[in-house]
This record gives sequence, structure tokens and C-alpha cells, in this order.
Amino acid sequence: MLDKNYNKIVMKFGGTSMADIDKISKVADHIEREFNSSKKVAVVVSAMSGETDRLINLVDAIGKIDNSERDAVISSGEQVSSALLALTLKARGIQARSVQGWQIPLKTDEVHGSARILDVQSKYLDDLISRKEIPIIAGFQGITDDNRISTLGRGGSDTTAVAIACSLKADLCDIYTDVDGVYTSDPRIVELAKKISKISFEEMLEMASQGAKVLQTRSVELAMSYGIAIRVRSTFAENNLEKNNKTINIGTIVTNEDSILEDKVVSGIAYSKNEAKITIQNLDDKPGVAAQIFGNLAKSAVNVDMIVQNISADGKHTDLTFTLQEAELKTAKSILDDLKSEVSYEKLIESKDIAKVSVIGVGMRSHAGVAAEMFSTLAEKGINIQAITTSEIKVSVIIDSQYIELAMRALHSAFGLDQK
Ligand code: ASP
Ligand code: MG
Repeated sequence: MLDKNYNKIVMKFGGTSMADIDKISKVADHIEREFNSSKKVAVVVSAMSGETDRLINLVDAIGKIDNSERDAVISSGEQVSSALLALTLKARGIQARSVQGWQIPLKTDEVHGSARILDVQSKYLDDLISRKEIPIIAGFQGITDDNRISTLGRGGSDTTAVAIACSLKADLCDIYTDVDGVYTSDPRIVELAKKISKISFEEMLEMASQGAKVLQTRSVELAMSYGIAIRVRSTFAENNLEKNNKTINIGTIVTNEDSILEDKVVSGIAYSKNEAKITIQNLDDKPGVAAQIFGNLAKSAVNVDMIVQNISADGKHTDLTFTLQEAELKTAKSILDDLKSEVSYEKLIESKDIAKVSVIGVGMRSHAGVAAEMFSTLAEKGINIQAITTSEIKVSVIIDSQYIELAMRALHSAFGLDQK
């Protein structure tokens, strides 16, 4: 699908790639290479690394403020980095110009801080590209209908890049970052993890939402619905690029399931340590109780992940356990405290010492036994499973967080993913 035949590309560079003037020069090398091989190129950049955090801290120091002014501040990192890169290219005699979200325009809704993209006009960018002036687009930002600057949420430049790629009908969206691709598991924990050469959108979505932070989840959703291939690749680790300019071995391509030939049942092992669980003991077992509890949690935007309800021993009471993000534990507890007058229960037990490990792969659709294999692998290591969820392409379990590394290594090897 990709190989040699792509000629319109979006190149996105993350914060670590834009961290200083030397690194920006390395970024310019990549752009120059693609541009000189007569590709049509548009570029999207993140802020210099650490800059968005710095801006957020400035805003937070003022206290509660207007979210649209907050966006005006925190989007500014990308204005700086896009113009620095344009300057670097121009100094080399390559025509380029910085383009802010509002100049495209890239329209979003009004949810400041995590705005969704509504529309991306392609005319301005197309005009620049056709006169061989490279647009260097500030990622992460857009403009609302009432003419205010908005931002797309942390990591949002990935989504900008994919949205630009859709709008320009690009053949490929190249995401340049500080890792050389997507791995079968976190290499910091599983030493034998290996780079995946192709992965499906759906698997990538599961990996991203299970904690593999390479791509913003929304960017993968967008790429999936428009069928835009993404390639995750390193800005720095490609010494042989000039000699070996075969796309096939570079990075990880995220694409349609159909264009992946490899016949693997499991593609990756993901994990998340930011999990917590609450058990509600001796809860009234009658219709409407669960609706009330989870309805109230949802109203306060507490995202519940797994739910386990025990069979009631006496027909009147039961224990209900659910998991959620650790950061939302406090909110959830206060909601449940407030509910005590309406639904009766004996007590709440909370725990933060849990972690989630997931086995992911589209091959599960046609292969039985993955869950069984996962459970027996954990059992062999003496690891107890506290809760389970499954989807068509994923099995996740909650375990004691002290065993997470052991569990990941064991599963990685049991499913044949270890590097030879
Ligand atoms: N600069 C923004 C952030 O740090 C957006 C991005 O890097 O994708 O979240
Ligand atoms: Mg990022």
C-alpha cells in the first residue's frame, strides 16, 4: 500500500524532536530529504518539549481562569516552534512558512482544553504546497466559531496532523518521535519487546487507550475513520536512511487490518498502573441501584472501567466492585458518600495497589483460547486475577500492582512475542 507510491505526505514532529535549535535542524534534514525527492509536503509541529507544561504552570499560578484565555496561552508554544522551523528551512533556501490553526482555518467546537475538530479547510495549504512553499503548521490548536483560539487536549498535535492529512488527501501521515516505532510491549519493562512493523488501527487504539502513549487516541480514531495510514518513526535513530530508503523497515505503520498480512493472534501486551478500585459492601440488591450509582458517577465524568457484581448470598445484599482511574478516586468516593441516603450499603473499600494488563490482537476474532492461555500463564506465576473484561480483540485483567512487571514478561513470552 505505501512503499514507493506515496507522494503527498504530512510530517509531524513531536516536542522532543523540536526541543532545541540543533534538533530542529535535524527535523529540517528530514523535511529537506522528502521535499527534494519531489514529494508534496505539509508539516505539523508540537511545542518545544516542556514548553506546554511551562505555560500550563503559568496559567495555573493565576488560579481559576477563563478557559479560552488559557488556550490562548498554552497554544503559544506551537506558534514559536512552527516559526523557528520555518526560519531554519528558509535559512537553507527552502521556501516555508509558519501557519497557525486560525490561518488555515482549522475549526473546532468550543470545548476549550479538549476541543474537537469540526472542519479543516484545505485551500490555503493546497495553494502553498502547489507553489512549493512548505506549510509548517502549529499543531494542537484551532479556532472556534466565535473566533477564539482552542486547543485539542494534551498530545493533540498528532490529531492535528491526521486531520491535515485527511483534508489534503495525503497518502501518509508520518509521526516523527523519540521512539522508532510501536513495540509489542513497553521496552522499559519487557526487555524482549520488539518493534511491530504493521499494526491495525483497532489494535493501536487499544494499545493507546491502555497506556501506550505514542499517539493521541483521537488521532488514531480519526485516521481509522478516514483510512489514512500513520507511520510512527524516529527523528534521530535512522542513520542508514540515505542508503536504505525503503519505507518497509522504517518505523511502525498503523493501517487497515486488511493490509496486514502477518498472521498473529496477539500483537501486544499493554498495561496501566493508574488504576484504582472501589468495592461497595453489602449493597442493596434490587432493581435500579446500579443505574443510580453508575448514573451519578457518569454525570460527574468519572470513567468506570470494569464492573464485577457478586451473586447475592441472601437475595437482599451484594458486593459491587468497579475500577476507575486513580485520579478520579476522590470524586467517586464523595459521590458514593452522598448517595448513602438513597442506596444503602455497609461500607466502601478502596485500593490503589492494582494494575491492569491487557493482551491485544485482532487475531482473537478467529482464534479461541487466548483468555484461557492468559489466565493459565498468570496462574503459573501465582498471580491472582481480581477482575476481567474482554472485547473482540482484547482481554484485560486487574492484578495486584506489585506483579505487573512479572505478568507482562510472562504474557509476552507465552504469546510468542519475545525477540529472538
Ligand atoms: N504541545 C502539546 C502538548 O504538550 C501538544 C502536543 O505535543 O501534541 O500536549
Ligand atoms: Mg505526543
